[in-house]
Amino acid sequence: MNNKRLTAIITRLETHYDTTFKPVKKKNLLDVLIAIKLSQNTTDKTSHKAYLNLKSNYKDWEEVMSSPLPKIQKDIRICGMAETKSKDIKNMLKEMNTKHGSLSMGHLYKMTDDEIYDELLSYKGIGKKTIACLLAFGMGRCSFPVDTHVHRILNRIGIVDTQTPEKTFEEAKDIIPDEKKIGFHINLIKFGRSICKAPNPVCSECFIYDLCSFKEKIYYKEKLSGKIKENNFIILENI
Ligand code: SF4
Repeated sequence: MNNKRLTAIITRLETHYDTTFKPVKKKNLLDVLIAIKLSQNTTDKTSHKAYLNLKSNYKDWEEVMSSPLPKIQKDIRICGMAETKSKDIKNMLKEMNTKHGSLSMGHLYKMTDDEIYDELLSYKGIGKKTIACLLAFGMGRCSFPVDTHVHRILNRIGIVDTQTPEKTFEEAKDIIPDEKKIGFHINLIKFGRSICKAPNPVCSECFIYDLCSFKEKIYYKEKLSGKIKENNFIILENI
């Protein structure tokens, strides 16, 4: 990936979305970690509701830790995958309590990113993507979380050539300048929701079209301009 092209893409997105990322204030890291867990594979709106249910229905995270799983499941059902998420959250709280004798995560502020990865990866149900989000949005560290959307867009544009979000994460963290990481992540999420969508990218309205190396961008541009009519029977018709 040519650095000039990457810089141009980052700048174009910043200009388009007018991003000025405010520095993250010191937050309760356990609150952030649980909010991130709840946000997986769902919308911001439903995960926020599930988070508020936990915050209002329990005195503190200690109470969540000692509550029966079906009750937690019911409280977070709205955000989907309630069975897995409730199990992961409860197990993580128990493991953390056993390891540190409390549920505080304040000690992470004194640790390096690598030490934080080592510590949190030891909890079942916490993966690199979750930790990258915690570093970025909980601690304001220079971190570039990669979900399936960021993975898809970076591959289409031609910034990386990888098969999995995990591989994309490993490559992207070394080529994206630190000071741009959080803002670029946020902009790619916005871009993926409105322009570079999963099944049908809106290439005809894409403001980085000239910088993108996606082979099918001409097809999608013409398709959405109405020049190509969808024909699922093209092979049968030509036999
Ligand atoms: S041209 Fe199409 S594929 Fe390329 S970034 Fe824009 S929307 Fe995505």
